[in-house]
Amino acid sequence: MRILILGGTTEASELARLLAGDARFQPTLSLAGRTTSPKPQPVPTRIGGFGGGAGLQAWLRDNAIAAVIDATHPYAAQISAHAVAACRAVSLPLASIVRPAWQCEDGDQWIEVDTPQAAAAALGSDPARVFLSLGRLDLAAFCAAPQHHYIARTIDPPGDVPLPPDIRFVYARGPFDEANEDDFLRGERIQALVSKNSGGAATYPKIAAARRLQLPVVMIARPDKPGGVPLDGAQAARRWLEALLAHHG
Ligand code: NAP
Repeated sequence: MRILILGGTTEASELARLLAGDARFQPTLSLAGRTTSPKPQPVPTRIGGFGGGAGLQAWLRDNAIAAVIDATHPYAAQISAHAVAACRAVSLPLASIVRPAWQCEDGDQWIEVDTPQAAAAALGSDPARVFLSLGRLDLAAFCAAPQHHYIARTIDPPGDVPLPPDIRFVYARGPFDEANEDDFLRGERIQALVSKNSGGAATYPKIAAARRLQLPVVMIARPDKPGGVPLDGAQAARRWLEALLAHHG
């Protein structure tokens, strides 16, 4: 059974590991190509966009794909919309791994906003030391609040995105641990964080550290992300594929 996994997340890599070497499935993992050196994967991998929904539809047909798992990040809404449309057009089963959002707990000081632009405004007019835990493509919004000193943690250098004048980069890839996040926030004398509500354990320690240090977190809300059959992780995705296989005889 030929499968397309739309990836770029921990869950997608976990599913690739689960399916690698399983003769029942022939998975291809698809990455957008946002990071310059993605982690090596144990299944065949293709990198780059498909050319919109129509391009994805053609790719599914050309590669005789029998099922699609959308394991993309909660903020990657466009590829998910394309997956829903393309799978509907060629009558393919689609399941989506949905990572639960983090919940605001006692002691958290979250300021919830809808967009990176609103996050920049929510930081206020007084200059502050701000930790931006965002993708590099989200950083341009902070040009509108040039009074702050920003420390941005990204996987790769920002490339040619417009940046606020006072910004420094720390390059790192999760998972992160709580003690190090604590040290990082203290060491950089951070006064506020800006984060997406990514969910999952790999990047949660900064949120827990902010709670302990009583720092505000400007939390950018999740976009509406269309999907197929909702699943809660890679194990559930494998069970869904096994059920499909059994159903098709
Ligand atoms: P997006 O806005 O939903 O997608 C933009 C375009 O990128 C899509 O239309 C598609 O191009 C291409 N694309 C996205 N994911 C792809 C995939 N897995 N394989 C092939 N093409 C893909 O997505 P995004 O927010 O830019 O995120 C890009 C990738 O990074 C996703 O795979 C996601 O899982 C991962 N990621 C995103 C975030 C985040 O905060 N957004 C965080 C961590 C990881 P075409 O229209 O040409 O097909």
